Amino acid sequence: MIIQLEQGIDTKRKEAIVQRALSLKYKTTEVKTQLGNYLIGIGKNEFDIRELGHMPGIQDIHIVSDNYMLVSKKWKVNPSQIDLGDGVVIKQGDFAIMAGPCSIENEEQVYKTIEHLKENGVKIMRGGVFKPRSSPYSFRGMGIEGLKMWYTAAKEAGIKIISEVMQVSQIAEMYDYTDIYQVGARNTQNFNLLDELGKVDKAVLIKRGISGTVDELLYSAEYVFSGGNEKLMLCERGIRTYETSSRNTLDLNAIPVLKDKTHLPVIADPSHGIGIRDYVETMALASVMAGVDGLIYEIHEKPEEAYSDSAQTLNFTESAALIKKMRKVFDLRESL
Ligand code: PEP
Ligand code: MN
Repeated sequence: MIIQLEQGIDTKRKEAIVQRALSLKYKTTEVKTQLGNYLIGIGKNEFDIRELGHMPGIQDIHIVSDNYMLVSKKWKVNPSQIDLGDGVVIKQGDFAIMAGPCSIENEEQVYKTIEHLKENGVKIMRGGVFKPRSSPYSFRGMGIEGLKMWYTAAKEAGIKIISEVMQVSQIAEMYDYTDIYQVGARNTQNFNLLDELGKVDKAVLIKRGISGTVDELLYSAEYVFSGGNEKLMLCERGIRTYETSSRNTLDLNAIPVLKDKTHLPVIADPSHGIGIRDYVETMALASVMAGVDGLIYEIHEKPEEAYSDSAQTLNFTESAALIKKMRKVFDLRESL
């Protein structure tokens, strides 16, 4: 059960609600976010909602049958929006495009990518400076200095940025130089990291774990939300299956399922989802039709020279064509 408390409720009233819930065999946890104050009640007892509902300080009570609660659509039917400032909002009905290299490599690459994004009306640039690599000998990113250089250039151009945070200590390090924290597929169930991201007032995108289920992704989101941060979105980026003809299997099924289960924006990443440049466009367009609120994909002026994920990276011509097609498909979907 979710008990929505009135803003500014005093401690005495709150304690009375906690005690009444306990007497009904519901143990409560308080959650304070940027937007609300909630008591999450966990218990099995059936009870007459009027026994609680009349208490002063309660705005609303929702019985949620899902085990994840705050991210569920069962209590919040309206889709959530993430306002990044300067008119950039990620929300249902306004298709968000995030494109950029797998790794930030140097200043020239950053400027060229920004130019490409501006030419095509894209407002969010992706890029990694802390790279999770399968081999320790691969390029592991420019680190915080690369992030500072990139953020400064992007800010000047009016572009927002999204970058992966790999560990708790990087949250504070990155805070002044990023607009969206990306939680990578290898960290989806790093619960310490998720707890700490709950404490920041900045957007977070959580990727689905490499072998993670849809429900596990929703539980991960619940960690961040219940930690206090509602500025959250989810990303389908392909899962590991027995199939070897592509890098991962982009789970298109997950898109309508997630859209049905949660009020959070849902994003697709076809670059990691299929891992093969020639098929990225098809899977991007299929994701749009499946119902995503945005797309994140990898680009490079010379993909064959990219320091990481070269095989799945589009060049600027391919990216410009994809942007046009995605917008068309999005308009078509919205008109159906
Ligand atoms: C990335 O976005 O470059 C990345 C490493 O993604 P994922 O965590 O989905 O593998
Ligand atoms: Mn990558």
